[in-house]
Amino acid sequence: MSRPSSSAFRTRVTGLNALGTHVLRVTVTHPDLEHFGTVGLDTRIKLLLPRADGVVPGLGLFDDPPATIGEWYGRWRALPDDERNPLRTYTVRNVRPEAREIDIDFVLHGTSGPASAWAQDAQIGDELVVLGPDARSDEPYRGTAWHPEGARRVMLAGDETAAPAILAILESLPDDVAGDAFIEVPDCGDILEATVHPGLEVHWLPRAERECGAALLPAVERWAEAHLSARGGRVAEEDPTSDGILWEEPEGAPRETYAWIAGESGVVRDLRRLLVAHGIDKADVAFMGYWRRGHAEGA
Ligand SMILES: Cc1cc2nc3c(=O)[nH]c(=O)nc-3n(C[C@H](O)[C@H](O)[C@H](O)COP(=O)(O)OP(=O)(O)OC[C@H]3O[C@@H](n4cnc5c(N)ncnc54)[C@H](O)[C@@H]3O)c2cc1C
Repeated sequence: MSRPSSSAFRTRVTGLNALGTHVLRVTVTHPDLEHFGTVGLDTRIKLLLPRADGVVPGLGLFDDPPATIGEWYGRWRALPDDERNPLRTYTVRNVRPEAREIDIDFVLHGTSGPASAWAQDAQIGDELVVLGPDARSDEPYRGTAWHPEGARRVMLAGDETAAPAILAILESLPDDVAGDAFIEVPDCGDILEATVHPGLEVHWLPRAERECGAALLPAVERWAEAHLSARGGRVAEEDPTSDGILWEEPEGAPRETYAWIAGESGVVRDLRRLLVAHGIDKADVAFMGYWRRGHAEGA
């Protein structure tokens, strides 16, 4: 049987670097990260965080052979509420197989969420179980939503949680792809370095105490007025998935312009409506609710 497309890595923290006022880069290592998949882009990973008592149950993830996704996830779901570890979704920002390291950029949004709280208190040597792509597998890892399918113009929009994905995508783009990225961040201290080619422009939008989306929505509207044909497309009524998180990642058809949106779910919905109202084809927009105001992930 071929190796599954994702594996669990029992990593240790080796680096903690404040990139911005609300952004902490956590570098983790494990010998097996030599085999971590290097697709990059917006590759999503899962973090199995320690419980308050520090325990991370094995769930069969480290057996030989390891439990399949269906098996470990079933076991995790079956645990009593007070024994079930928080499982959260993040983006792998950098992969350095030769150094057996990956970087994860955590937004520090307080201590109400276990992932943010974990990052805020993280110390060198702490354990973090990461579930992510395994390059030894023959099966594709279906953990990226970026499918531009040959588009020559791109527009990316998101908040601070989407910044790792947006920056990794921009760094990957060839010179003949032009575009704009709009990234709303809590304040000026969260503007990060971006190494992109001259055809791409990164617009950092400090929110500065305003509501989520207050800076992003008008900026994307101005972009839409300048770049879309204002055909007045039908405004879609999206079907939220069962847990209310919006998610659609169209792929397959060649396209001219491609838009990618991620961040707070309500803002993502408003951005998508705005683009569709300005005439973009729904099939040309990927939109992903990365978190939802007032709701813990999975709740
Ligand atoms: C594909 C994908 C990739 C992601 N990549 C990253 C990444 O690289 N870096 C990153 O920091 N996040 C990323 N996120 C978002 C992250 O998963 C959520 O923010 C998650 O809710 C954080 O978990 P938590 O335990 O801190 O908070 P939870 O327990 O999930 O939530 C607790 C409370 O905090 C609120 N909350 C959650 N996130 C935020 C926030 N950012 N700002 C303000 N309030 C918040 C919730 O609404 C809830 O009220 C990604 C999400 C997805 C789906």
